[in-house]
Amino acid sequence: MNTIPEKTQLVIIGAGPGGYAAAFRAAELGLSVTLIDPEVRPGGVCLYRGCIPSKALLHVAKLVSETEESAAIGVKFSSPKIDLDRVRDWKNEVIKKLTGGLGMRADKLKLTYVRGTVRFKDNKTLTVKTVDDETGELNFDQAILATGSRPLMLPGVQASARIIDSTGALELAGVPKSLLVVGGGYIGLELGSVYAALGSKVSVVEMTDGLLPGCDRDLVSVLKRRLEKKVAEILLSTKVVELKEQKNVVAVTLEDKKGERNSKRFDQVLIAIGRRPNSENLGLENTAIKLTDKGFIKVDGQQRTAERHIFAIGDIAGEPMLAHKAYGEAHVAAEAAAGQKAVFDPRAIPAVVFTDPEIAWCGLTETDARAQNIKIRTAKFPWRGNGRTLTLGRDDGLTKLILAADSDRLLGIAVAGPGAGELIAEGVLALEMAATGEDLRKTIHPHPTLSETIFEAAGMLE
Ligand code: NAD
Repeated sequence: MNTIPEKTQLVIIGAGPGGYAAAFRAAELGLSVTLIDPEVRPGGVCLYRGCIPSKALLHVAKLVSETEESAAIGVKFSSPKIDLDRVRDWKNEVIKKLTGGLGMRADKLKLTYVRGTVRFKDNKTLTVKTVDDETGELNFDQAILATGSRPLMLPGVQASARIIDSTGALELAGVPKSLLVVGGGYIGLELGSVYAALGSKVSVVEMTDGLLPGCDRDLVSVLKRRLEKKVAEILLSTKVVELKEQKNVVAVTLEDKKGERNSKRFDQVLIAIGRRPNSENLGLENTAIKLTDKGFIKVDGQQRTAERHIFAIGDIAGEPMLAHKAYGEAHVAAEAAAGQKAVFDPRAIPAVVFTDPEIAWCGLTETDARAQNIKIRTAKFPWRGNGRTLTLGRDDGLTKLILAADSDRLLGIAVAGPGAGELIAEGVLALEMAATGEDLRKTIHPHPTLSETIFEAAGMLE
Protein backbone atom coordinates (compact mmCIF):
# COMPACT_ATOMS: atom_id res chain seq x y z
CA MET A 1 0.00 0.00 0.00
CA ASN A 2 1.20 3.47 -0.85
CA THR A 3 -1.16 5.75 1.05
CA ILE A 4 -0.26 9.31 1.94
CA PRO A 5 -1.14 9.94 5.60
CA GLU A 6 -2.76 13.28 6.46
CA LYS A 7 -0.62 13.87 9.50
CA THR A 8 2.57 12.60 11.10
CA GLN A 9 4.71 13.50 14.09
CA LEU A 10 7.96 13.14 12.12
CA VAL A 11 8.38 12.94 8.37
CA ILE A 12 11.71 11.86 6.95
CA ILE A 13 12.43 12.70 3.33
CA GLY A 14 14.90 10.32 1.71
CA ALA A 15 15.55 6.73 2.83
CA GLY A 16 19.32 6.41 2.40
CA PRO A 17 21.70 5.69 5.30
CA GLY A 18 20.77 9.07 6.84
CA GLY A 19 17.01 8.79 6.36
CA TYR A 20 16.50 5.15 7.36
CA ALA A 21 18.84 5.43 10.37
CA ALA A 22 16.92 8.52 11.56
CA ALA A 23 13.58 6.78 10.96
CA PHE A 24 14.57 3.67 12.94
CA ARG A 25 16.01 5.69 15.83
CA ALA A 26 12.98 8.02 16.01
CA ALA A 27 10.55 5.07 15.92
CA GLU A 28 12.54 3.33 18.69
CA LEU A 29 12.17 6.52 20.72
CA GLY A 30 8.39 6.38 20.32
CA LEU A 31 7.66 8.89 17.54
CA SER A 32 5.17 8.14 14.79
CA VAL A 33 7.32 8.27 11.64
CA THR A 34 6.57 8.59 7.92
CA LEU A 35 9.51 7.80 5.65
CA ILE A 36 9.27 8.94 2.01
CA ASP A 37 11.46 7.80 -0.91
CA PRO A 38 10.77 6.76 -4.50
CA GLU A 39 12.54 3.39 -4.17
CA VAL A 40 10.63 0.22 -3.36
CA ARG A 41 12.54 -0.23 -0.07
CA PRO A 42 14.82 1.92 2.09
CA GLY A 43 18.49 1.94 1.04
CA GLY A 44 19.19 5.12 -0.93
CA VAL A 45 22.18 5.69 -3.19
CA CYS A 46 24.48 3.82 -0.79
CA LEU A 47 22.68 0.50 -1.16
CA TYR A 48 21.19 0.78 -4.65
CA ARG A 49 23.82 2.77 -6.57
CA GLY A 50 26.86 3.43 -4.38
CA CYS A 51 28.79 1.94 -1.47
CA ILE A 52 27.34 -1.57 -1.54
CA PRO A 53 27.31 -2.45 -5.27
CA SER A 54 30.77 -0.86 -5.68
CA LYS A 55 32.14 -2.96 -2.82
CA ALA A 56 30.64 -6.12 -4.32
CA LEU A 57 32.38 -5.34 -7.62
CA LEU A 58 35.63 -4.43 -5.84
CA HIS A 59 35.54 -7.88 -4.24
CA VAL A 60 35.39 -9.38 -7.74
CA ALA A 61 38.35 -7.17 -8.75
CA LYS A 62 40.32 -8.38 -5.71
CA LEU A 63 39.71 -12.03 -6.59
CA VAL A 64 40.89 -11.44 -10.14
CA SER A 65 44.07 -9.67 -8.92
CA GLU A 66 44.81 -12.43 -6.44
CA THR A 67 44.57 -15.14 -9.08
CA GLU A 68 46.95 -13.14 -11.26
CA GLU A 69 49.47 -12.48 -8.53
CA SER A 70 49.52 -15.81 -6.75
CA ALA A 71 51.91 -17.34 -9.31
CA ALA A 72 54.67 -15.40 -7.49
CA ILE A 73 54.08 -17.56 -4.39
CA GLY A 74 53.75 -20.79 -6.31
CA VAL A 75 50.01 -21.03 -6.94
CA LYS A 76 49.06 -20.74 -10.59
CA PHE A 77 45.58 -20.21 -11.99
CA SER A 78 44.60 -19.90 -15.59
CA SER A 79 43.09 -16.53 -16.57
CA PRO A 80 39.76 -16.08 -14.79
CA LYS A 81 36.67 -16.28 -16.98
CA ILE A 82 34.20 -13.55 -16.08
CA ASP A 83 30.53 -14.42 -16.34
CA LEU A 84 29.29 -10.84 -16.38
CA ASP A 85 25.62 -11.79 -16.07
CA ARG A 86 26.34 -13.82 -12.93
CA VAL A 87 28.49 -11.03 -11.45
CA ARG A 88 25.67 -8.54 -12.07
CA ASP A 89 23.04 -10.91 -10.63
CA TRP A 90 25.15 -11.56 -7.53
CA LYS A 91 25.65 -7.81 -6.98
CA ASN A 92 21.88 -7.31 -7.35
CA GLU A 93 21.18 -10.17 -4.92
CA VAL A 94 23.39 -8.44 -2.33
CA ILE A 95 21.40 -5.22 -2.79
CA LYS A 96 18.09 -7.08 -2.56
CA LYS A 97 19.08 -8.84 0.67
CA LEU A 98 20.16 -5.64 2.36
CA THR A 99 17.26 -3.47 1.22
CA GLY A 100 14.84 -6.31 2.02
CA GLY A 101 16.24 -6.43 5.55
CA LEU A 102 15.75 -2.69 5.95
CA GLY A 103 12.18 -3.01 4.65
CA MET A 104 11.45 -5.69 7.24
CA ARG A 105 12.89 -3.53 10.02
CA ALA A 106 10.73 -0.60 8.84
CA ASP A 107 7.64 -2.84 9.00
CA LYS A 108 8.58 -4.16 12.43
CA LEU A 109 8.95 -0.62 13.76
CA LYS A 110 5.55 0.24 12.18
CA LEU A 111 6.93 3.07 10.06
CA THR A 112 4.67 4.45 7.36
CA TYR A 113 6.70 4.07 4.16
CA VAL A 114 5.50 6.08 1.17
CA ARG A 115 7.04 5.62 -2.28
CA GLY A 116 7.12 9.11 -3.70
CA THR A 117 8.69 12.56 -3.81
CA VAL A 118 7.84 15.74 -1.94
CA ARG A 119 7.82 19.55 -2.07
CA PHE A 120 7.38 21.86 0.88
CA LYS A 121 4.11 23.78 0.52
CA ASP A 122 4.97 25.66 3.70
CA ASN A 123 7.00 24.94 6.84
CA LYS A 124 4.36 22.51 8.20
CA THR A 125 2.99 20.92 5.01
CA LEU A 126 4.42 18.74 2.27
CA THR A 127 2.87 18.05 -1.09
CA VAL A 128 3.55 14.38 -1.71
CA LYS A 129 3.45 12.77 -5.16
CA THR A 130 3.56 8.99 -5.11
CA VAL A 131 5.20 6.81 -7.75
CA ASP A 132 1.62 5.84 -8.74
CA ASP A 133 1.02 9.51 -9.61
CA GLU A 134 -1.26 10.25 -6.68
CA THR A 135 -0.88 13.58 -4.95
CA GLY A 136 -1.74 14.50 -1.38
CA GLU A 137 -0.83 16.82 1.46
CA LEU A 138 0.96 15.71 4.58
CA ASN A 139 0.97 17.83 7.70
CA PHE A 140 3.95 17.27 10.00
CA ASP A 141 5.14 18.38 13.43
CA GLN A 142 8.82 17.87 12.61
CA ALA A 143 10.77 16.87 9.49
CA ILE A 144 14.20 15.49 8.66
CA LEU A 145 15.60 16.16 5.19
CA ALA A 146 17.91 13.42 3.95
CA THR A 147 17.74 13.67 0.17
CA GLY A 148 21.43 12.98 -0.43
CA SER A 149 23.45 13.91 -3.48
CA ARG A 150 23.90 13.00 -7.14
CA PRO A 151 26.89 12.77 -9.49
CA LEU A 152 28.11 15.98 -11.12
CA MET A 153 28.36 15.99 -14.91
CA LEU A 154 30.85 17.95 -16.98
CA PRO A 155 29.17 21.16 -18.16
CA GLY A 156 27.22 20.65 -21.38
CA VAL A 157 27.66 16.85 -21.30
CA GLN A 158 24.70 14.45 -21.15
CA ALA A 159 24.96 10.95 -19.70
CA SER A 160 24.38 8.24 -22.32
CA ALA A 161 25.30 4.60 -22.95
CA ARG A 162 28.89 5.66 -23.67
CA ILE A 163 29.25 8.59 -21.29
CA ILE A 164 28.33 7.24 -17.88
CA ASP A 165 28.41 8.32 -14.24
CA SER A 166 28.85 6.08 -11.21
CA THR A 167 25.23 4.90 -11.48
CA GLY A 168 25.79 3.76 -15.06
CA ALA A 169 29.12 2.15 -14.19
CA LEU A 170 27.54 0.13 -11.36
CA GLU A 171 24.85 -1.23 -13.66
CA LEU A 172 27.68 -3.18 -15.33
CA ALA A 173 25.96 -3.29 -18.72
CA GLY A 174 29.22 -4.45 -20.32
CA VAL A 175 32.98 -4.19 -20.14
CA PRO A 176 34.31 -1.62 -22.63
CA LYS A 177 37.63 -2.34 -24.34
CA SER A 178 38.85 1.13 -23.37
CA LEU A 179 37.52 3.33 -20.59
CA LEU A 180 38.46 6.90 -19.75
CA VAL A 181 37.85 7.77 -16.11
CA VAL A 182 37.50 11.52 -15.62
CA GLY A 183 38.40 12.35 -12.00
CA GLY A 184 41.03 10.67 -9.84
CA GLY A 185 38.97 10.82 -6.64
CA TYR A 186 37.15 8.16 -4.59
CA ILE A 187 34.72 7.05 -7.29
CA GLY A 188 37.08 7.27 -10.26
CA LEU A 189 39.73 5.15 -8.59
CA GLU A 190 37.35 2.58 -7.09
CA LEU A 191 35.35 2.02 -10.27
CA GLY A 192 38.40 2.42 -12.53
CA SER A 193 40.00 -0.45 -10.56
CA VAL A 194 36.90 -2.61 -11.05
CA TYR A 195 36.81 -2.14 -14.82
CA ALA A 196 40.59 -2.64 -15.11
CA ALA A 197 40.24 -5.99 -13.30
CA LEU A 198 37.33 -6.98 -15.58
CA GLY A 199 39.56 -6.38 -18.60
CA SER A 200 39.10 -2.76 -19.73
CA LYS A 201 42.12 -0.71 -20.73
CA VAL A 202 41.61 2.13 -18.24
CA SER A 203 42.99 5.67 -18.50
CA VAL A 204 42.54 8.06 -15.58
CA VAL A 205 42.59 11.80 -16.11
CA GLU A 206 42.84 14.07 -13.07
CA MET A 207 42.71 17.85 -13.17
CA THR A 208 44.96 18.48 -10.15
CA ASP A 209 48.61 17.41 -9.82
CA GLY A 210 47.86 14.27 -7.78
CA LEU A 211 45.30 11.52 -7.24
CA LEU A 212 42.88 11.90 -4.30
CA PRO A 213 43.37 15.62 -3.69
CA GLY A 214 43.48 16.40 0.04
CA CYS A 215 44.82 12.98 1.03
CA ASP A 216 48.43 12.78 2.35
CA ARG A 217 50.88 12.18 -0.51
CA ASP A 218 52.81 9.34 1.19
CA LEU A 219 49.56 7.32 1.37
CA VAL A 220 48.63 8.12 -2.22
CA SER A 221 52.12 7.01 -3.38
CA VAL A 222 51.47 3.52 -2.01
CA LEU A 223 48.27 3.31 -4.05
CA LYS A 224 49.67 4.96 -7.17
CA ARG A 225 52.60 2.54 -7.42
CA ARG A 226 50.22 -0.41 -7.61
CA LEU A 227 47.57 1.34 -9.67
CA GLU A 228 50.14 2.14 -12.36
CA LYS A 229 50.52 -1.60 -12.93
CA LYS A 230 46.76 -2.11 -13.25
CA VAL A 231 45.65 0.79 -15.46
CA ALA A 232 46.99 1.86 -18.84
CA GLU A 233 47.76 5.47 -17.88
CA ILE A 234 47.27 8.09 -15.20
CA LEU A 235 47.28 11.62 -16.59
CA LEU A 236 47.68 14.27 -13.89
CA SER A 237 47.27 18.06 -14.26
CA THR A 238 45.12 17.27 -17.28
CA LYS A 239 41.65 18.51 -18.18
CA VAL A 240 39.01 17.24 -20.54
CA VAL A 241 38.20 20.14 -22.83
CA GLU A 242 35.88 18.34 -25.22
CA LEU A 243 33.86 15.14 -25.30
CA LYS A 244 32.13 14.15 -28.54
CA GLU A 245 30.15 11.00 -29.06
CA GLN A 246 30.87 9.51 -32.46
CA LYS A 247 29.75 6.25 -33.98
CA ASN A 248 30.89 3.53 -31.49
CA VAL A 249 33.43 5.77 -29.68
CA VAL A 250 33.79 8.91 -27.64
CA ALA A 251 36.36 11.37 -28.99
CA VAL A 252 38.03 13.22 -26.13
CA THR A 253 40.27 16.27 -26.26
CA LEU A 254 42.63 16.53 -23.30
CA GLU A 255 44.71 19.53 -22.28
CA ASP A 256 47.81 19.29 -20.07
CA LYS A 257 49.16 22.01 -17.79
CA LYS A 258 51.30 23.49 -20.58
CA GLY A 259 48.11 23.98 -22.58
CA GLU A 260 49.03 21.25 -25.06
CA ARG A 261 46.03 19.44 -26.52
CA ASN A 262 45.76 15.86 -27.55
CA SER A 263 42.82 13.82 -28.87
CA LYS A 264 42.04 10.23 -27.92
CA ARG A 265 39.18 7.82 -28.48
CA PHE A 266 37.57 5.59 -25.89
CA ASP A 267 34.76 3.06 -25.99
CA GLN A 268 33.29 4.54 -22.84
CA VAL A 269 33.89 7.51 -20.54
CA LEU A 270 33.11 7.49 -16.82
CA ILE A 271 32.62 10.93 -15.28
CA ALA A 272 33.54 10.94 -11.57
CA ILE A 273 34.26 14.59 -10.79
CA GLY A 274 32.32 14.92 -7.54
CA ARG A 275 28.74 15.00 -6.32
CA ARG A 276 26.26 17.76 -5.55
CA PRO A 277 23.55 17.90 -2.89
CA ASN A 278 19.92 17.28 -3.89
CA SER A 279 18.61 20.53 -2.46
CA GLU A 280 16.73 21.80 -5.52
CA ASN A 281 13.08 21.08 -6.39
CA LEU A 282 12.12 20.58 -2.75
CA GLY A 283 10.21 23.86 -2.43
CA LEU A 284 12.71 25.09 0.19
CA GLU A 285 11.87 28.65 -0.95
CA ASN A 286 8.51 28.13 0.82
CA THR A 287 10.38 27.77 4.12
CA ALA A 288 13.07 29.84 5.87
CA ILE A 289 15.71 27.12 5.27
CA LYS A 290 19.05 28.55 4.11
CA LEU A 291 21.58 27.06 1.71
CA THR A 292 25.36 27.53 1.45
CA ASP A 293 26.86 28.71 -1.85
CA LYS A 294 27.54 25.03 -2.71
CA GLY A 295 23.87 24.11 -2.25
CA PHE A 296 24.22 22.38 1.15
CA ILE A 297 21.56 23.08 3.78
CA LYS A 298 22.86 25.17 6.69
CA VAL A 299 22.43 23.34 10.01
CA ASP A 300 23.43 23.77 13.65
CA GLY A 301 25.04 21.22 15.99
CA GLN A 302 21.72 19.37 16.35
CA GLN A 303 21.24 19.31 12.55
CA ARG A 304 18.44 21.89 12.86
CA THR A 305 17.92 24.18 9.87
CA ALA A 306 16.79 27.82 10.11
CA GLU A 307 13.33 26.25 10.67
CA ARG A 308 13.98 24.78 14.15
CA HIS A 309 11.56 21.87 13.64
CA ILE A 310 13.13 20.83 10.31
CA PHE A 311 16.45 18.99 10.41
CA ALA A 312 18.87 18.12 7.60
CA ILE A 313 21.35 15.23 7.63
CA GLY A 314 23.82 13.42 5.38
CA ASP A 315 25.13 14.62 2.02
CA ILE A 316 22.57 17.42 1.83
CA ALA A 317 23.90 18.89 5.11
CA GLY A 318 27.53 19.25 4.02
CA GLU A 319 30.87 17.52 3.57
CA PRO A 320 32.19 14.93 3.98
CA MET A 321 29.58 13.15 1.86
CA LEU A 322 29.96 9.79 3.58
CA ALA A 323 27.29 7.32 4.66
CA HIS A 324 28.74 6.89 8.15
CA LYS A 325 28.65 10.66 8.75
CA ALA A 326 24.98 10.50 7.75
CA TYR A 327 24.33 7.70 10.31
CA GLY A 328 25.88 9.81 13.07
CA GLU A 329 23.89 12.90 12.12
CA ALA A 330 20.73 10.80 11.78
CA HIS A 331 20.88 9.66 15.39
CA VAL A 332 21.49 13.21 16.62
CA ALA A 333 18.54 14.59 14.61
CA ALA A 334 16.18 11.76 15.65
CA GLU A 335 17.14 12.11 19.32
CA ALA A 336 16.78 15.91 19.21
CA ALA A 337 13.37 15.48 17.50
CA ALA A 338 12.37 13.16 20.35
CA GLY A 339 13.31 15.86 22.86
CA GLN A 340 16.62 14.38 23.97
CA LYS A 341 19.85 16.25 24.47
CA ALA A 342 22.03 15.41 21.49
CA VAL A 343 24.77 17.09 19.49
CA PHE A 344 26.87 16.05 16.49
CA ASP A 345 30.40 16.47 17.77
CA PRO A 346 32.65 13.61 16.60
CA ARG A 347 36.39 13.86 17.16
CA ALA A 348 37.00 11.95 13.95
CA ILE A 349 35.06 10.88 10.87
CA PRO A 350 37.02 8.16 9.09
CA ALA A 351 37.55 8.26 5.33
CA VAL A 352 38.18 5.06 3.39
CA VAL A 353 39.03 4.70 -0.29
CA PHE A 354 38.28 1.06 -1.13
CA THR A 355 40.92 0.66 -3.80
CA ASP A 356 43.64 -1.99 -3.70
CA PRO A 357 45.43 -1.12 -1.52
CA GLU A 358 42.84 0.68 0.56
CA ILE A 359 43.62 4.08 1.99
CA ALA A 360 42.01 5.15 5.25
CA TRP A 361 42.52 8.01 7.63
CA CYS A 362 40.85 9.80 10.54
CA GLY A 363 41.43 12.91 12.59
CA LEU A 364 44.13 15.38 11.58
CA THR A 365 46.08 14.67 8.39
CA GLU A 366 49.61 15.91 7.65
CA THR A 367 48.16 17.92 4.77
CA ASP A 368 45.66 19.67 7.08
CA ALA A 369 48.32 20.22 9.78
CA ARG A 370 50.54 21.96 7.23
CA ALA A 371 47.66 24.05 5.85
CA GLN A 372 46.58 25.10 9.34
CA ASN A 373 50.13 25.57 10.65
CA ILE A 374 49.63 23.02 13.44
CA LYS A 375 52.91 21.67 14.85
CA ILE A 376 52.94 17.88 14.77
CA ARG A 377 55.28 14.91 14.87
CA THR A 378 54.68 11.70 12.98
CA ALA A 379 55.59 8.03 13.30
CA LYS A 380 55.54 6.10 10.03
CA PHE A 381 55.79 2.33 10.00
CA PRO A 382 56.38 0.78 6.56
CA TRP A 383 54.64 -2.57 6.30
CA ARG A 384 57.70 -4.51 5.17
CA GLY A 385 58.66 -4.71 8.86
CA ASN A 386 55.50 -6.63 9.80
CA GLY A 387 55.24 -10.41 9.66
CA ARG A 388 51.60 -10.62 8.65
CA THR A 389 52.04 -8.37 5.60
CA LEU A 390 54.86 -10.63 4.36
CA THR A 391 52.75 -13.77 4.82
CA LEU A 392 50.02 -12.10 2.71
CA GLY A 393 52.52 -11.18 0.02
CA ARG A 394 51.60 -7.52 0.55
CA ASP A 395 54.35 -5.59 2.31
CA ASP A 396 53.80 -2.36 0.36
CA GLY A 397 51.66 -0.56 2.97
CA LEU A 398 52.21 2.25 5.43
CA THR A 399 50.79 3.04 8.87
CA LYS A 400 51.19 6.56 10.17
CA LEU A 401 50.43 8.22 13.49
CA ILE A 402 50.15 11.98 13.85
CA LEU A 403 50.75 13.44 17.30
CA ALA A 404 50.87 16.89 18.82
CA ALA A 405 54.46 18.22 18.62
CA ASP A 406 54.65 19.05 22.32
CA SER A 407 52.72 16.16 23.89
CA ASP A 408 52.00 12.46 23.44
CA ARG A 409 48.41 13.16 22.33
CA LEU A 410 47.28 11.32 19.20
CA LEU A 411 45.71 13.68 16.64
CA GLY A 412 45.36 11.50 13.57
CA ILE A 413 46.03 8.09 12.12
CA ALA A 414 46.33 6.95 8.52
CA VAL A 415 46.82 3.60 6.85
CA ALA A 416 47.53 2.56 3.25
CA GLY A 417 47.40 -1.17 2.61
CA PRO A 418 44.97 -4.07 2.23
CA GLY A 419 42.39 -3.95 5.02
CA ALA A 420 43.12 -0.29 5.89
CA GLY A 421 39.37 0.35 6.05
CA GLU A 422 39.02 -2.17 8.89
CA LEU A 423 42.20 -1.08 10.69
CA ILE A 424 41.16 2.56 10.84
CA ALA A 425 38.34 1.77 13.29
CA GLU A 426 40.98 1.37 16.02
CA GLY A 427 42.24 4.85 15.18
CA VAL A 428 38.76 6.35 15.38
CA LEU A 429 38.18 4.80 18.81
CA ALA A 430 41.64 5.94 19.95
CA LEU A 431 40.84 9.53 18.94
CA GLU A 432 37.38 9.43 20.54
CA MET A 433 38.99 8.18 23.78
CA ALA A 434 41.72 10.87 23.59
CA ALA A 435 44.45 8.21 23.43
CA THR A 436 48.16 8.96 23.60
CA GLY A 437 51.04 7.28 21.80
CA GLU A 438 51.75 5.45 25.05
CA ASP A 439 48.18 4.08 25.14
CA LEU A 440 48.70 2.51 21.70
CA ARG A 441 52.16 1.24 22.69
CA LYS A 442 50.83 -0.43 25.83
CA THR A 443 47.77 -1.96 24.13
CA ILE A 444 48.47 -5.60 23.35
CA HIS A 445 47.71 -6.21 19.70
CA PRO A 446 47.16 -9.75 18.41
CA HIS A 447 50.11 -11.38 16.65
CA PRO A 448 50.59 -11.84 13.75
CA THR A 449 48.12 -9.25 12.38
CA LEU A 450 48.15 -6.06 10.38
CA SER A 451 46.89 -4.24 13.49
CA GLU A 452 50.39 -4.63 14.90
CA THR A 453 51.52 -1.95 12.43
CA ILE A 454 49.69 0.56 14.66
CA PHE A 455 51.46 -0.77 17.74
CA GLU A 456 54.80 -0.77 15.86
CA ALA A 457 54.28 2.82 14.68
CA ALA A 458 53.58 3.84 18.30
CA GLY A 459 56.78 2.06 19.34
CA MET A 460 58.74 4.28 16.95
CA LEU A 461 57.75 7.33 19.01
CA GLU A 462 60.02 6.36 21.89
P1 NAD B 1 35.91 13.39 -5.43
O1 NAD B 1 35.72 14.79 -5.01
O2 NAD B 1 36.44 12.39 -4.48
O3 NAD B 1 36.88 13.34 -6.71
C1 NAD B 1 36.64 14.06 -7.88
C2 NAD B 1 37.97 14.23 -8.59
O4 NAD B 1 37.70 14.74 -9.87
C3 NAD B 1 38.89 15.21 -7.89
O5 NAD B 1 40.15 14.62 -7.77
C4 NAD B 1 38.89 16.42 -8.83
O6 NAD B 1 40.11 17.13 -8.80
C5 NAD B 1 38.66 15.75 -10.16
N1 NAD B 1 38.06 16.59 -11.18
C6 NAD B 1 37.06 17.50 -11.05
N2 NAD B 1 36.76 18.03 -12.23
C7 NAD B 1 37.56 17.44 -13.16
C8 NAD B 1 37.71 17.56 -14.56
N3 NAD B 1 36.94 18.41 -15.26
N4 NAD B 1 38.65 16.82 -15.19
C9 NAD B 1 39.43 15.95 -14.46
N5 NAD B 1 39.32 15.79 -13.12
C10 NAD B 1 38.39 16.52 -12.48
O7 NAD B 1 34.51 12.97 -6.05
P2 NAD B 1 33.96 11.54 -6.48
O8 NAD B 1 35.05 10.58 -6.66
O9 NAD B 1 33.03 11.82 -7.63
O10 NAD B 1 33.13 11.12 -5.24
C11 NAD B 1 32.10 12.00 -4.75
C12 NAD B 1 31.91 11.84 -3.28
O11 NAD B 1 31.31 10.58 -3.04
C13 NAD B 1 33.21 11.87 -2.50
O12 NAD B 1 33.48 13.18 -2.06
C14 NAD B 1 32.95 10.95 -1.38
O13 NAD B 1 32.52 11.68 -0.28
C15 NAD B 1 31.83 10.05 -1.83
N6 NAD B 1 32.32 8.70 -2.05
C16 NAD B 1 32.90 8.03 -1.02
C17 NAD B 1 33.38 6.76 -1.21
C18 NAD B 1 33.99 6.03 -0.07
O14 NAD B 1 33.75 6.42 1.07
N7 NAD B 1 34.80 5.03 -0.30
C19 NAD B 1 33.32 6.15 -2.45
C20 NAD B 1 32.74 6.85 -3.47
C21 NAD B 1 32.25 8.13 -3.26
